[in-house]
Amino acid sequence: MRVIVVGAGVVGTMHAWHAVKRGHEVVQIERESEARGASLRNFGQIWVSGRAGGEELETALRARELWESLGERVPGLGFRACGSLTPVRTARETAVAEAAVARPDAAARGYKLLTAGEARAINPALRGDFAAALWCERDAAVEPRTAQLALKQELLASGRYTYLGGREVREVVGTASVRDDHGDVHTGDAVVLATGAWLGGLVRELAGPDLPVRRVRLQMMQTDPLGEPLTTSVADADSFRYYPAYRGEALDALNTGQAQTPTAAEHRMQLLMVQRRDGGLTIGDTHEYEHPFSFDTVEEPYEHLTAVVESFLGRPLPRIRRRWAGVYAQCTDTTRVVHRQEVRDGVWLVTGPGGRGMTCSPAIAETTANELGW
Ligand SMILES: Cc1cc2nc3c(=O)[nH]c(=O)nc-3n(C[C@H](O)[C@H](O)[C@H](O)COP(=O)(O)OP(=O)(O)OC[C@H]3O[C@@H](n4cnc5c(N)ncnc54)[C@H](O)[C@@H]3O)c2cc1C
Repeated sequence: MRVIVVGAGVVGTMHAWHAVKRGHEVVQIERESEARGASLRNFGQIWVSGRAGGEELETALRARELWESLGERVPGLGFRACGSLTPVRTARETAVAEAAVARPDAAARGYKLLTAGEARAINPALRGDFAAALWCERDAAVEPRTAQLALKQELLASGRYTYLGGREVREVVGTASVRDDHGDVHTGDAVVLATGAWLGGLVRELAGPDLPVRRVRLQMMQTDPLGEPLTTSVADADSFRYYPAYRGEALDALNTGQAQTPTAAEHRMQLLMVQRRDGGLTIGDTHEYEHPFSFDTVEEPYEHLTAVVESFLGRPLPRIRRRWAGVYAQCTDTTRVVHRQEVRDGVWLVTGPGGRGMTCSPAIAETTANELGW
């Protein structure tokens, strides 16, 4: 079988991976010379903690297994089973963490409510002031700026994989057949369009104007090396407000009884933080839903995040070295893990995994491979 994958982000690359692993030939076509979209701009969090119970959690747990075994084979992914800590300070925040550890699926996530001392034993860099912390043992991390490139090298070594960068796919020209902007036609037994948040152009022509997927923009930053290990990922209690796992009476009480700071509320913020292999910290994020998106990054969210991080670390943040924004595609029905649609004979669009696309992509691609009988 020959599979044509359009898009070299993590979703496309994981489809290529499963097809090659099953003995098929793959041609992967990317508009840029290398991917430059959400898959490189993200935290690299393999984030199990906040997932909704049921299909979403099962997908994330399966994906984490796949990331771990891939990480053993491809060290360039930088996979590490670091877990995460969400420090809490107030009674309302603590109540949300207590409700989380009382969930029937808490053990599958590796949730535990730790005292501040126990949390510091796991992550000594957290010298700031907090009362307790929600530990999620299943959370993990990879290096997003290099993961796709490392996977590509491994795929090239298979001898069954061709990468075509700098080519935009413009047209479907027959069953499982596409034409790129060099005029070349690529024919396979299946085409997967893993085109991320590019919802106009070809995708709009094929899927129509009512594609149930929207775009979301986030602001991020990265610091100079911290000078010490941050052994776990770290989130703040505002993150409880955004993830379905925490929904319930305790979260309602947090939302009604404890306001976010005005900056955090205006930019729909939470703190997520993970250490890169060079020691720097990737820190975010904001959420912007209304179009047109800002073309610039604004400073207030960075000031807010800096204050939150410094309060957890109990020390000044190193210099901010990079600031950027990224856009992901999210199913408008956010309970859906992904939008997978056969848009023409043998041509499948796979988009909309939202803020969990880096986490879930290995399992999303595995499901595509199973459903298409690869
Ligand atoms: C700032 C930020 C932080 C995030 N953090 C996390 C996180 O920590 N954990 C997590 O699980 N998820 C996270 N996400 C979400 C995750 O990054 C995305 O869901 C995921 O990367 C989507 O992957 P993709 O391959 O679908 O899209 P992309 O990475 O955008 O890749 C799509 C590719 O298709 C190419 N393309 C598009 N059209 C064509 C065409 N016609 N021809 C050829 N090529 C084309 C594009 O150039 C692009 O390279 C985050 C997202 C952002 C923006």
